[in-house]
Amino acid sequence: MNLVVMKFGGTSVEDPAAIHRTAAIVAGRVAMGKSPVVVVSALAKVTDQLLRAAAAASQGDRMGALAISSRLRSRHRDTAAGLLKDTAGCAELGKLIDEKFDGLDEILRGLSAIRELTPRISDLIVSHGERISSRIVAAAFKERGVDAAHADAREIIITDSEFQKAAPQSDIIEKRAAEKLLPLLRDGKVPVMGGFIASNEAGLTTTLGRGGSDYTGALVGGALNAETIEIWTDVDGIMTADPRACPDALRVKVISFEEAAELAYFGAKVLHPATILPAVKKNIPVQVLNSRNPSNEGTRIISLAPHCRSPFKSIAVKKKLSIIDVVASRMLMTHGYLSEIFAIFDKHKCPVDMVSTSEVSVSLTVDSNASLPAISADLGKLADVKYEGKKALVCMVGEDIRGQNGIAAQVFNAIRHINVRMISQGASEINMSFMIEEDDADEAVRSLHAAFFKDPDPEVFDVEARKPLSVISGQ
Ligand code: ASP
Ligand code: MG
Repeated sequence: MNLVVMKFGGTSVEDPAAIHRTAAIVAGRVAMGKSPVVVVSALAKVTDQLLRAAAAASQGDRMGALAISSRLRSRHRDTAAGLLKDTAGCAELGKLIDEKFDGLDEILRGLSAIRELTPRISDLIVSHGERISSRIVAAAFKERGVDAAHADAREIIITDSEFQKAAPQSDIIEKRAAEKLLPLLRDGKVPVMGGFIASNEAGLTTTLGRGGSDYTGALVGGALNAETIEIWTDVDGIMTADPRACPDALRVKVISFEEAAELAYFGAKVLHPATILPAVKKNIPVQVLNSRNPSNEGTRIISLAPHCRSPFKSIAVKKKLSIIDVVASRMLMTHGYLSEIFAIFDKHKCPVDMVSTSEVSVSLTVDSNASLPAISADLGKLADVKYEGKKALVCMVGEDIRGQNGIAAQVFNAIRHINVRMISQGASEINMSFMIEEDDADEAVRSLHAAFFKDPDPEVFDVEARKPLSVISGQ
């Protein structure tokens, strides 16, 4: 069996047109002789709205909560009606949607009376997004000739009882996936299940945390030893740089898990790498694909990246940062000073991105946020403090910088016209980061891109994307 897990995010199932495209993509895989297991998110934005309904109810705003639920009910009913021409099937699905929303309204009413939103109730409420989307998608697939069978994710993805961020129990999941999904697959059916939702061993609904559908995809793929896990989203994959800043940016065809993890932190929002760990551990490749552009082959994330000519795979930028300089002669020859400084950041719950120290000074970078004046006042009790906003962190990621000489010289030569405030070569040895003025960031990325992606490896980067221009101008 050529088993492939196909996970579709909220934008890939947001309306009838999107679900229609998704059905065609799955039908295409079946036609290629693959056996897909489909994992879907809630329709785009539904999770946020369910959380808003829960918040309203918990503040006693019963009408507000029910109004949100009623809008969601109409949206799901309209989506179903837009997909199903067959009136009997449509009526059946409409009834099912109503039942689920009746149940949700019941919970919201109870919550508005009790006014205490526990993590357990929150999960129960929010689970409705995937419970309903998976039903609609399964019905829509059937009407489009894909022999779909709905599977309840809560019977397969078993977790601990840490509601809102439950930890999956992989042994049980393996067993359940074999019990519930393999028979369907053997019958030639395409199981369709919701992502993100799960249950504990007592059968209470849990969730894997926001964005958890990718995690479900990886868990199912890992449990069934799939040949690939496909994450269908609305971008072409990981790029060498942000195309808005750098028009020459290329799609990265293949990247290692570690490289993708570094980039994710810098806002490459393609997926959260921690969620695909179950796949990486089993050496199952994860392919990020675009449901609006399905013929594009996307980015493949694998455990061990192939070496390539460019030492870097991608340049990421994080803007809206501040730099804080703490200078104290008292630091000379003392110990415990850094921990005092970090205790202050800890007290204000402010994560620090990058640190650089000398004997008498420490520079730290943080997300610009409202607590900076308070942090700086506290730090002022220990030392002289200065902080400045509008900074950007540029992060260059690539496994091939490991042990290579002269890379730093090449990087800083490429941006010698730009003032660099702080430098760090990550302990992971696969990234090189530095801090510059936000206004210089786009220019820095273009210069670095020109220097390091002049002659991109066709094995690793999509150089074809550059070719059409010369073909057209050559005609
Ligand atoms: N629907 C959930 C969320 O928005 C899970 C997901 O889409 O991955 O967080
Ligand atoms: Mg997502």
